[in-house]
Amino acid sequence: MAAQERSVRNSVCLNHPERPASTRCTVCFKPVCAECARQEGGGTFCSQDCLENCARTQGSVGAWHEQTARQRARRRRARLTKLAILIAAGVAAYLYLTRHPGSLDQVKDRTAKAVNEAKKGLGR
Ligand SMILES: [Zn+2]
Ligand SMILES: [Zn+2]
Repeated sequence: MAAQERSVRNSVCLNHPERPASTRCTVCFKPVCAECARQEGGGTFCSQDCLENCARTQGSVGAWHEQTARQRARRRRARLTKLAILIAAGVAAYLYLTRHPGSLDQVKDRTAKAVNEAKKGLGR
């Protein structure tokens, strides 16, 4: 507050040239006297226009923040879903192989045969 007071020490009100300004508009930084200043929503405004400008800007910034947060949450959910699918696939494979112990050997056999045939193919 002290810095703001100092910054208007040599200024006069936008609407009253004979009065010293007591504060500055949050939006356009024009000096205004206490009577002209509109204190609303944590800001000081010289006119209804500036008040509405500020409300619009803050509103859109708020919406932008909300949108960014939503997108971030969606990306995080997508990542978690992918991870869950990978884990489920790993668990399913593990359960399948533990319940059908032969299948791993079959896979090994098939792989060995395929490797042998490939070797034979190369040998020719
Ligand atoms: Zn203003
Ligand atoms: Zn004034």
